[in-house]
Amino acid sequence: VKAKIAVNGYGTIGKRVADAVQAQDDMEIIGISKTKPNYEAAVAHQKGYDIYAPASSAGAFEKAGMPIAGTIEEMVEKADLVVDCTPGGVGEENKPMYERAGVKAIWQGGEEHELAGFSFNAVSNYEGALGRDLVRVVSCNTTGLCRVIYPIDKELGVNKVRVTLARRAVDPNDIKKGPINAIVPDPIKLPSHHGPDVKSVLPNISITTAAMKIPTTLMHLHTVNMEVNTDCTAEDVKKIFGSQSRIRFVGQGIGSTAEIIEFARDMGRPRNDMWENCIWPESITVHEREFYFFQAIHQESIVVPENVDAIRAMMELESDGAKSIQKTNKALGF
Ligand code: NAD
Repeated sequence: VKAKIAVNGYGTIGKRVADAVQAQDDMEIIGISKTKPNYEAAVAHQKGYDIYAPASSAGAFEKAGMPIAGTIEEMVEKADLVVDCTPGGVGEENKPMYERAGVKAIWQGGEEHELAGFSFNAVSNYEGALGRDLVRVVSCNTTGLCRVIYPIDKELGVNKVRVTLARRAVDPNDIKKGPINAIVPDPIKLPSHHGPDVKSVLPNISITTAAMKIPTTLMHLHTVNMEVNTDCTAEDVKKIFGSQSRIRFVGQGIGSTAEIIEFARDMGRPRNDMWENCIWPESITVHEREFYFFQAIHQESIVVPENVDAIRAMMELESDGAKSIQKTNKALGF
């Protein structure tokens, strides 16, 4: 039998997690929740997902021609595990509901580490999530950083990491926030929260980060600087990154985030998703025991395969992290 998964909060992350779960052969979506019968709900309905909503919205869904299968509480009762993809800070309020129902729960990076007590990144700490009831899948930026820091630390030993993050201001569907013509140091007081967040997964890494918001919606761009404990060449670093299935080297004329997204479109990726870190191998430059590189991170999709692996670990469907990663990648079509 497949693990029964519910997605609470069918937005940017939730709709992608639902489709990714549905693509696996050891888990299935038993329902998704929407608060309003909007266009996203209509597509979910068309895809055949059972829609659950607050009892007070049942009439509105009925009127819109997409009758709900029940309330969010009822959805939670039917699931083995709920992936909470509600906006940051909202997920926290759902904890008592999950506890009452006795279901396992995953939260996203917008929630605090303490809510789940375990912050997850598949390549870094899959085994630690085995059988756990509560897990937090870290944010897009933290996921992108853990994927490069963990394997370098394993092979070369990381002494110190410094990162400057140019963050997309908003997701492409967001018409409310900006900036549209400014670069915003965010936060001005340094360091940014991204460094400490990496430490929620990799506690022994020394890392500091600075971040800014820039007027773009497509991807984040990281300038990563790592000081390592072993002499190495750019080729050594490339070899380590090249061994990672969730790192993709970009080149062949790709010189920007715009071209990466176009490439994802050309590959026929769902919603032009780029699940892998995109590293420019040409940017990898070694100076003494320190190296630099650029990587682009598709904020809307990078955490999606991580959520699938977190489910597999928590439900104990696979005890080996490397095998889960491979299985997830294959089912998604990496
Ligand atoms: P979103 O706003 O796109 O989607 C949230 C969805 O939850 C919306 O459909 C909203 O209607 C619904 N919702 C709101 N309150 C609800 C409630 N009480 N019950 C059920 N549904 C409710 O948000 P998102 O960008 O998908 O972010 C979700 C989480 O993922 C956050 O923790 C965020 O920090 C994290 N995250 C976001 C990104 C990103 O770049 N978008 C990347 C990684 C992680």
